[in-house]
This record gives sequence, structure tokens and C-alpha cells, in this order.
Amino acid sequence: MVETLEWGPFGVKATTTDGRVFQADQAVITLPLGVLKAGRVRFVPDLPEDKHTALEQLGITDAVKLFFHFKEPIFPEGIVELYVPGANPDEWWSSTRGHGVEAEILTALATGDKARELLALPETQALQNALETLRQALSRPGLTPSKARLAHWRDDPFTLGAYSKASVGASKARSVLAQPVDNRLFFAGEHTASNAWAATVHGAYASGRRAAQEILALKPQPRVRPPLRSRETPVLLPSP
Ligand SMILES: Cc1cc2nc3c(=O)[nH]c(=O)nc-3n(C[C@H](O)[C@H](O)[C@H](O)COP(=O)(O)OP(=O)(O)OC[C@H]3O[C@@H](n4cnc5c(N)ncnc54)[C@H](O)[C@@H]3O)c2cc1C
Repeated sequence: MVETLEWGPFGVKATTTDGRVFQADQAVITLPLGVLKAGRVRFVPDLPEDKHTALEQLGITDAVKLFFHFKEPIFPEGIVELYVPGANPDEWWSSTRGHGVEAEILTALATGDKARELLALPETQALQNALETLRQALSRPGLTPSKARLAHWRDDPFTLGAYSKASVGASKARSVLAQPVDNRLFFAGEHTASNAWAATVHGAYASGRRAAQEILALKPQPRVRPPLRSRETPVLLPSP
């Protein structure tokens, strides 16, 4: 896990929590928005002020997924998705139907207020509440899964949130975050994609291609090697 990212005329140097050091001419920073907002990676020197403003302007959506494993098919034949208006969660789908397995795993998704409502409950209670909406929707009061799990991304140190959201007034924040800094730091990730593609896999993918093309378009730059501190072992140092 990267802890510190130093950058300057020498290039970039990433130091991980277990003391490894990676050096290169440029870095593509694809850290999730939640990790950047929380300052979990220390940039030395710090990122420019406009990046901090843009990080503050963008918010993070709360999302919860609930998984229910049943030993046999639960949805009626031909049904793969279920929408239950007014329920929480209201979106259900079969993750196994059509995959030639006897078991059925139903996945439910809640975002925004509905996610926060479920996250405020103990996990077993949230799962129980969700199961109740399924039982009512299918008119099967005795329906009982063999396994159930809840997943969310709010506390995961590698994400610290599900995906980005832009509030009113933040329409330019993503393009500010996408801008390179000093031809050393390049930025990708869903939160740097265009507003139309942000918060998606294709947005993240396109932003990675954009950052790679930005680096490929650079003219070779001279690099000054930084002095190594005694405990550091460089594991990657491409020749200039
Ligand atoms: C519940 C949910 C449902 C979704 N549904 C859809 C959908 O239907 N369609 C769709 O297109 N998109 C969907 N998305 C969004 C999509 O998953 C994301 O937009 C996309 O995965 C983001 O990719 P990324 O490369 O920007 O970030 P990530 O895939 O999060 O990659 C960031 C990487 O940084 C790493 N990292 C974090 N901290 C550090 C550190 N300190 N040092 C080193 N590495 C670090 C992480 O481990 C991770 O590998 C959904 C997301 C969620 C949460």
C-alpha cells in the first residue's frame, strides 16, 4: 500500500507501508476518490490547491450490496430482476440465473439514503430487513437463505467509499482532478472521467487510456536521481 508519493525534477518515488520504494519518471495516480479525500497517501510536495478544492467539491456515494445464497432457484422461471417500489432495498437480481448452477444467489443493491438506512443497522438486522422485503415481494414468508452477506465500501481502506458524485457547482471538479501536475503526476480513475462517464468501469478505463496517452506524448525529460535514505532499497529504477 502506497503511503508517500514524492515528486519533483528527479521524477516520482512511491514508498509503501512496508518500506518498499518504487521510482519512475512519471506516476499515474489511480487512487480512489475516498482515499485521496482522506489524505491517506501523502504527496511531497503537496498537491496544488486546485486539486484540494476539487477533492472537496466531489462527494462519495454510499452503496450497499446484500447477497443471499439459496440452495435452489427462487425467482420464477424467466425472471432475472425484481424491482420492489418503496422497499429497501428495492433492486434485486439473480447473479446465478443462466449460469447452469442449481443454487441461486440473489443480489440486492441500495444507494444513497437507502444505503445509509441499512448501514445504520447491525449487519444481521439489515440482512433480515432486506430478506423481509423479498419474502413479501415473492409472497413466500418462509423463504430462508443458506448464507447471507452484506458488503459496503465505506470503511475499506483501499476505497473509502463506493464511487464519486458531483453536486451542483462541481461540474468542473473532475476535469481539474484529471489534469497532470508538472508532467510528473498523471491522474486516472472513475472520478477523473467526464461527468457523463464518471462512476463507471468504462469511465475508469477511458481515463487510464487518457493518462497513458498524456505520458506517451511527453518529450523525454532529464531526471535527477534523489538520494536514497539508508533503509530504502529501490525495486524499480528504469534507466533514464
Ligand atoms: C456497489 C457498486 C456498484 C457499481 N455498479 C457499477 C455498474 O453497474 N457499472 C459500472 O460501470 N460501474 C459500476 N460501479 C463503479 C465501478 O466499480 C467503479 O467506477 C470503478 O471500478 C472504479 O475504477 P477505478 O480504477 O477508478 O478505481 P478502483 O477500481 O477502486 O481502483 C483503485 C485501486 O487503488 C488501489 N489503492 C487504494 N489505496 C491504495 C494505496 N494507498 N496504495 C496503493 N493502491 C491503493 C485499490 O486497491 C484499487 O486497486 C459500481 C461500484 C459499486 C461500489
